[in-house]
Amino acid sequence: MQSLIGKKALVIGLGESGLGASLLLKSLGASVRVTDSSCGEEVIHRAEKLPTVGVEVELGIHSENFCREVDFAILSPGIPLDMPLVKNLSARGVPVLGELEWASQFLSGKIIAVTGSNGKSTTATLIWKILSDAGLKATLAGNIGLSLSRAVLENPLTEIWVLEVSSFQLEAIGNLKPWVSLLLNVTANHLDRYPSMEAYGSAKAHIFRNQNEEDWALVNRSCASFASSHVKTLFINSKGVEEKGCFVKNRILCVRMKSFNDGKNSLTPPTPLNIRGEQPSPYLRGVGGVKGTSLSHDYIHEIMPVEDIALPGKHNLENVMFAVTAASLCGISLETIRRTVSSFSGLEHRQEIFAKWEGARWVNDSKATSVDAVRSALEVFPKPILWLAGGRFKGGDFELLKPLLSGKVKKAYFYGEAGPLIYEKLKDACKSLLCSSLKDVVHVLREQVSPQDTVLLSPGCSSFDQFKNFEERGRYFKDQVRSAFELSRV
Ligand code: ADP
Repeated sequence: MQSLIGKKALVIGLGESGLGASLLLKSLGASVRVTDSSCGEEVIHRAEKLPTVGVEVELGIHSENFCREVDFAILSPGIPLDMPLVKNLSARGVPVLGELEWASQFLSGKIIAVTGSNGKSTTATLIWKILSDAGLKATLAGNIGLSLSRAVLENPLTEIWVLEVSSFQLEAIGNLKPWVSLLLNVTANHLDRYPSMEAYGSAKAHIFRNQNEEDWALVNRSCASFASSHVKTLFINSKGVEEKGCFVKNRILCVRMKSFNDGKNSLTPPTPLNIRGEQPSPYLRGVGGVKGTSLSHDYIHEIMPVEDIALPGKHNLENVMFAVTAASLCGISLETIRRTVSSFSGLEHRQEIFAKWEGARWVNDSKATSVDAVRSALEVFPKPILWLAGGRFKGGDFELLKPLLSGKVKKAYFYGEAGPLIYEKLKDACKSLLCSSLKDVVHVLREQVSPQDTVLLSPGCSSFDQFKNFEERGRYFKDQVRSAFELSRV
């Protein structure tokens, strides 16, 4: 790795990304300063160890003195490019790089980058699991707990990086060049930060910017307008159309492409899935070509019956289609793909059934911070649903849920900063109650839950009005519920 001895770096923001960047910079020999305008408990905790490794820290302010005379700055995700400190540095000619972008220059190995409005963590984790189960040295990093900087430090032997990339991280993209990019979907999300859907979708499409004809883009057919013409593109089509990419036909998940093990880009030796092998998979079907012998025609691989997928719901089917297509490009065997996909049932805080009580089930979907994520949860669970929503409003049109509410939701409970706003929009669509906090909702529920109900926390808003993050909100909900009711864990 290149040495940064003699360079002075400023890290802006001390979340997981800022901490990772500081440690990586230090290990490369740079002199490092970190500044964070907050001085909350978590930031203080992260800052504690830094002086002992020679990193200077300033909390609660970005003072001019501290931020002066640096050669470059690393920006944590979530900090807007138009904040005064960043504008100031740029005006003085100091390069300001996004953390993920900066760290990506130290990677060796291929990059699979996952972006979209919803489903990033689920899909990226599933891809990583399939690759790991196949014996590859894969690392999952980015916007998913482990910053890329820290991952670079801790996993230098990685063969393939699976990166979850948010649109904020993509805004700061310079040279990041994924081998495979996934654009899962583009739906109303973060409209508090972007002026329009078009602007938000365009930020997501940055993921293709540095790719070329050697690389792959996997794009949901529903947002094909954001696809790039200079990358080999495969579409994920959940409407059953047999196009290049992935589709479902007769309840079988199928992948259609020219070659599964893409010649020089392949990571594994030929497998039964690989059409270059002499032994084509029993599920292989040639399209307009001689079965299993030619690279110049498309082939359809029938991967597995939809019934064998462990993740529930239509939205997760799309996530799985993306993951399976990415794994196919890596030449992973059909057997491994099937085994992993049929056993991976999802992540905490995403439609997580955490308890059952006299027939009623309790679901923590705290990660559902957009209207579209709520829609998918309301579709997945059977009626009658007691739906809990609220928090800090992030934009999005709750009225789009109206057609689902009357048939499925027995009663809705709105709380927190956005409670009154959602209540006003939906009170005529289903029986609704306005509460002040999540705690109050759980209190009220003690009298109102019946057997057969599904109690679903799917907030459609961020957690920041009352919690540090969605994880804290989800855990709080589970604790409150468990102490208010006699619940058995699932
Ligand atoms: P992200 O990392 O993009 O936030 P997650 O996998 O963490 O995505 O899921 C976030 C929320 O979105 C959860 O409530 C989940 O059930 C829902 N979700 C997951 N995939 C999709 C999808 N493809 N379309 C709509 N909602 C989804």
